[in-house]
Amino acid sequence: MPGGWAELLVGRRELWLELASSEWLPVEVAWRLLAEADRPVLVELAEAQPDPGVLAALAAHPSQHVRQAVGRNPAAPPAVLADLLNDRPPLESCEVCERHPVPWTHPPDCPDPDCELPGGAACDGSHQYARHTIVEAALGHPAVLAALLRELVTAEHNVATLRAVGGPTLTACLRDRRARERAAVHPALPLDRIRALLADPATAHLAAANPALPAADLLRLMPPP
Ligand SMILES: [Zn+2]
Ligand SMILES: [Zn+2]
Repeated sequence: MPGGWAELLVGRRELWLELASSEWLPVEVAWRLLAEADRPVLVELAEAQPDPGVLAALAAHPSQHVRQAVGRNPAAPPAVLADLLNDRPPLESCEVCERHPVPWTHPPDCPDPDCELPGGAACDGSHQYARHTIVEAALGHPAVLAALLRELVTAEHNVATLRAVGGPTLTACLRDRRARERAAVHPALPLDRIRALLADPATAHLAAANPALPAADLLRLMPPP
């Protein structure tokens, strides 16, 4: 009864959470869950489902938690990770602005006993904390370097995309020989990284070409008159 087990069980809603967490779940059943299930089931599906089409749809889900879970799925392909890294399509809301008028930052001495928001939660309308958690999840994925390279190639034609990628992603690029040269000259690379590259004779010429490097750092390299 190949695949038939899932067709039988999907009629029982109370089993959806367990069905969704199976990597053997047939893709037709995965699509049905995607259309009908609520968020906890979709988070399980996003972590376990190997089908790239289903994963692409889950990576575009309005919930930050579902997107984050896709980043933890070992089967997530580079194209899907690239979407997570680049906020494609843009996240329209997050758990902070769904509950509080923005800008809002989670107070360290939160007075609400029922509050489930994490310590660093904040939103200024850009859902920055939610975006950060999605990017962190994607950056931890083994296929992320392939995704970053793909983005860097695309970014040759679209500077805005690469600017949106931001410091953490560019820092990750430095680990890859092929991506390093492009990341090293990008102005969004954090200054401490640029300075580390400048200190290394093999990469100093790249760091020196980075427009974000302050002139004072360059002058320090000059031999005294
Ligand atoms: Zn709170
Ligand atoms: Zn928000």
